[in-house]
Amino acid sequence: MIIMKAEATKEEIAQVVHEIKKFGLRADVSKGESRTVIGLVGDERKIPFSHFETLPGVKEVIRIETPYKLINREYTKFLENGDGTMEVTIGDVKIGGKEPVFIAGPCAVESREQLFRIAGEAKKAGAHILRGGVFKPRSSVHSFQGLGSAGDDEAREALTWMREAGREFGMPTITEVRGEAQVDLVAEYVDIIQIGARNMYDQDLLCKAAQTGKPIVYKRHFGAGIEEFLSFAEYIAAEGNKNIILCERGILPIGKGKTYTRYTLDLSAVPVIQKETYLPVIVDPSHATGRRDLIMSMSCAAIAAGASGLMIETHYNPKESLVDSQQMITPDELKVVIDTCKSIHKHLAPGVKSKAKVA
Ligand code: PEP
Ligand code: MN
Repeated sequence: MIIMKAEATKEEIAQVVHEIKKFGLRADVSKGESRTVIGLVGDERKIPFSHFETLPGVKEVIRIETPYKLINREYTKFLENGDGTMEVTIGDVKIGGKEPVFIAGPCAVESREQLFRIAGEAKKAGAHILRGGVFKPRSSVHSFQGLGSAGDDEAREALTWMREAGREFGMPTITEVRGEAQVDLVAEYVDIIQIGARNMYDQDLLCKAAQTGKPIVYKRHFGAGIEEFLSFAEYIAAEGNKNIILCERGILPIGKGKTYTRYTLDLSAVPVIQKETYLPVIVDPSHATGRRDLIMSMSCAAIAAGASGLMIETHYNPKESLVDSQQMITPDELKVVIDTCKSIHKHLAPGVKSKAKVA
């Protein structure tokens, strides 16, 4: 990370960028209020640190010793642009801002009627963003794969419903991409791209999704450690896209016998990640627990842990849902969850609120 002097000129910054490229690396330029910070992206062995220190306009060259540098909290420190957190803005919605954000909708988009009814009722319940899977990652090839898997026309039709429902009810939309081939198509229709837990390690998918410039909800794999999760998130940032929302959605349960939950919600990941990066962290209690009776308690706990938002699967008639019916809550239940979470957030100590400075 190259910290430029406050008085560094445009030409000096351009020269540093030029030198970085000469060494076969990429430059990540961030302009703060009073200074510019330039991150180096690429094979670290190629970096002659002492050379960069001697270039005009350079204040200092700092080595960040973690595999995630561009999303590191250290990065914002030198930009002096506030409190070490960053908001991701999607239309009127800010994730990582003062208020928690609620993403709700069906697991899978099944029909126009289903989506519109859920969208309208979720909006009334207080949701800010509409979710809905068009391409579903499923454990069995014999189960419903999402309408998008039926073909290009079907995918476009379902994505059109997402866009229309989002516009009708004033909610930005999010849907998952299961593979690189779907990225451009999905980016045409929705506001946020979701990369699911199973694809956390797919670096080509991460780069392709990042290149669209769209905000990305990036879910932690159920077997990934936090350092690993953040190291892979760095691939998105390295494409020049820092509109990343990290999502904790549960890790593999341990021990023999019945585990009682689908995954184990790792809530300490929320404050840990907030201390490591400036990116907002949200929690998905639906996939973490796989149980509708646990959504309320885990949502409250996630907000109390400082999460910037929640993603909750919602359906007016959970039993009818083709996917994940056991973890779906109704819009009425969603309203109670959102109201309770908002009230918990209001009473939180400033140190826990997502926007607060974390020492
Ligand atoms: C989803 O949100 O629809 C989903 C499949 O979640 P995950 O990738 O966390 O399993
Ligand atoms: Mn689901």
